[in-house]
Amino acid sequence: MSYDLDLKIMEMKEKKYYEQGAICAGCGKLIGRNEPTHLSHVLPQRKWVKQLYGEEVVYHELAMKLTHADQTCNAAVQISPNKTQLVNELVEKIRSELDEKDY
Ligand SMILES: [Zn+2]
Repeated sequence: MSYDLDLKIMEMKEKKYYEQGAICAGCGKLIGRNEPTHLSHVLPQRKWVKQLYGEEVVYHELAMKLTHADQTCNAAVQISPNKTQLVNELVEKIRSELDEKDY
């Protein structure tokens, strides 16, 4: 992992920490300042999901949430791809953000 990517992840974790009010998106409990955290993917990182929506959507900031570095918290964040409406709402939101950046 490159230094730049490490830094990007650290910055995103910091930002999410404040945005989420230090609350884990998986279990809803407080994340201690020194607790290990994880950026969890809302959309499953499956090949067909990436092909369908594009990597820029799957790896978008809005498709990431901060959780405890815990498998249960991590898994709780993910939307099942069967929940088409929820997935579509998120994808639409991300795409409109991506469009705005083009201008
Ligand atoms: Zn948690």
